[in-house]
Formats: sequence, structure tokens, C-alpha cells
Amino acid sequence: MGKFIYLDNAATTKTDPKVVEAMLPYFTENYGNPSSVYSFAAANKEVESEQREIIAKSLGAKTNEIYFTAGGSESDNWALKATVEAYADKGNHIITTKIEHHAILHTAQYLESKGIQVTYLDVDENGLVDPEAVRAAIRPETILISVMFANNEIGTIEPIKEIGAIAKENGILFHTDAVQAYMHVPIDVEELHIDMLSASAHKFNGPKGIGFLYIRKGVKIRSFIHGGAQERKRRAGTENVPGIVGMGTAAKLAYATLDERAKYESELRDYLIDRVLKEIPYTRLNGDRVKRLPNNANFSFRFIEGESLLIMLDMKGICTSSGSACTSGSLDPSHVLLAIGLPHEIAHGSLRVSLSEETTKEDIDYLVDELKKIVARIREMSPLYEDFLKKEKVK
Ligand SMILES: *Cc1c(COP(=O)(O)O)cnc(C)c1O
Repeated sequence: MGKFIYLDNAATTKTDPKVVEAMLPYFTENYGNPSSVYSFAAANKEVESEQREIIAKSLGAKTNEIYFTAGGSESDNWALKATVEAYADKGNHIITTKIEHHAILHTAQYLESKGIQVTYLDVDENGLVDPEAVRAAIRPETILISVMFANNEIGTIEPIKEIGAIAKENGILFHTDAVQAYMHVPIDVEELHIDMLSASAHKFNGPKGIGFLYIRKGVKIRSFIHGGAQERKRRAGTENVPGIVGMGTAAKLAYATLDERAKYESELRDYLIDRVLKEIPYTRLNGDRVKRLPNNANFSFRFIEGESLLIMLDMKGICTSSGSACTSGSLDPSHVLLAIGLPHEIAHGSLRVSLSEETTKEDIDYLVDELKKIVARIREMSPLYEDFLKKEKVK
């Protein structure tokens, strides 16, 4: 078999075999509906509550503040739509940013079509939101601030604590899409003044299709899926017991290794960044050099078209992405790269590399060695690059 190196962990991660093992009995043996009365099924209610507790603890939250959903997109949709509905008497303005995941951006645009006012904050050249810009955007009718914890394309970690404090000072709810950050950086909802937080299991070695929304006690939020009385009447539907067990198991495993993983991955990330910037000319790093996810690196190569880069890396057995899995296939450059001020042609030549605890230094060396050759080959075929070289010579 040829080489296979998976470096797209921001798109999804491998489900840990220990997680799969923990889930299996809930398909074929303990398959009862947790809402049933007999003990065979009711035991699953207990199991569910144990998983809820693991997750609550990992955030400094209370068990009854964790609501299971079908993933990050649902949690984001719920947080925005149901808040807008529940706080309609207080106001109709929400504040978010230009670099959010589409689960937030497209929900915000949908809400605009229903008459909600939305402010989309700019970010600086590293993708950072200025907390003072958040403060300046607040109006008397502002009901919600939603700023992502860490960006899924460029890895920048936002000043969540400062923004949370501003929200709290002004009596405004604060939601954060922490899908990329949860279990990759430590999070404490008390310390950071977070009222709602979205997360998704498949971004931390859990199964796909399960996630949660943390909702601080006292936050008035409507139910999002109407039906039965599950999730304290806020999210109907028979619980995804295997998924819940999978997410809880993944959270327990990931929480125990968070610090050591973050240290290992960030050292490898820095090695990758240093090698690429040093060895491949006309290249820039996107996102903040320091305030960034341990496992994320994002580069722009001038005179390169990202799609061909991905295909040529794929031929070498390397899985990477040009930005976000959700926008690949579309020819529009990433909204995140445009928001940090990259011109279209440079935004097009971008590459996201996202590591895992299984990534090795050998993997990174192989990637950089191949990348150097591929970038050189694509540039050789580029008339723009040829022109550029001629002009450089004249100087
Ligand atoms: C992956 C991701 C989502 C969507 O989560 P799903 O579980 O795939 O629906 C939302 N926000 C961010 C930042 C993500 O990275």
C-alpha cells in the first residue's frame, strides 16, 4: 500500500477504536429507549446522565446545562434561532463576526431575512476580533453576541474571556462556537463568562452526528426540535444513546490527555510552520502565530491555485484541505481569508494542514518535501510567476 497521511483533522477526526468499542453494546444489547419504564431501558437514562456529567465537568458546567444535539451545526442553529425567538421582547439585534463557520453565518443571514439586525464584525490581519469593536457594536436592542472560540480555517483563537466580560457587563447573552476548540484547548465557561457553547464529537475522536449545546442555567431558550419531552423538553427525539456514549467516552479520553496532546501538536505545528516559511519562497502563514489552535497551520502560496495543490498532494497520499470542507467544491475563495485581507488570487492558493496526536515528525517531513516539489512544479507552469521573476531580475 502506498503512503497515507491524514492531515485534515479540522474537517473530521478518526473515531477512537476505544470509543467504537464503548458504543457497540448500545446497538445490539442495551438498545432500550431511555424514556421507557422497564429497567432494561431505563438503565440507559443513567448511562446518559453519566456522559452528561463527564462533559459538564470538562467545561466547569453543571450536568443539567448540557443538551445533546446532532452536532455542531444543530447547536449553532439552536443557539441563534431560539435565542432570537425567546428574547424578541428585549430586542432584535445580534453581533457576530465575518469569519464564523457557515453554520453561524448562514443562520444569521436567514435571521436577517426574518427582520433580525445582524452586525458582522471585521477581524484584523491575523483573524482576531477586537473586543472593543464588540463593545462599540452594542445597541440597546442587542440580545446576543456570538463569536467563535477558534477559527476552523486559520486556527486563530479569539479573545473569548474579554468578549465574555463585555457581554456580561452589558447584560447580553454570549454564545461561542467552540467546535474546533473544545478538547483542543482548556475551556471553563465560568471563567470565560460563556452563556452558550456549541461542540461536536467528531472533531475530538468521537462519532459523527452527535454534539451538544451548553446552555447556562437561567438562559431563556426555546426548544428547537418539537416533540417528546427529552432533554428537559428542549430538544425532542429519542436520544442517540450509542452516539452519546461515544461522545462521552471520547470526551473522557481527550480530557485526560488535553495538555500533553496540545504540547505535542503545537511543537509539531511550529516545526511545520518554520520549515514551510523557510524553505518555500513567497509563502505566508495565515492566522495568528501564537494565539492559534495547537493542530492548525494555514499557508498561502503566491502563484498557486489551491485546488491543484490538493490534488497533487492527494496523489502523494496526503489529505489536506484548502480551507473548509464545507466550501470545497465551490470556486469562491474562503470568506475567512478574504476577511483577513488577502486578495482573491492569494486566497485561492491556500492550504490548511490540521494535525492529530497520531501525526509524526516523519509525516511532516514527507509533507514539506513533497510540498516543495509540487509548489515549484505548479509555479513553473504559471505565466504570472514567470512575469514576476522577470520583474524581480530588472530590479
Ligand atoms: C465542524 C464545525 C461545525 C459543524 O459541526 P458538525 O458537527 O459537522 O455539524 C461548526 N463550527 C465549526 C467551527 C466547525 O469546525
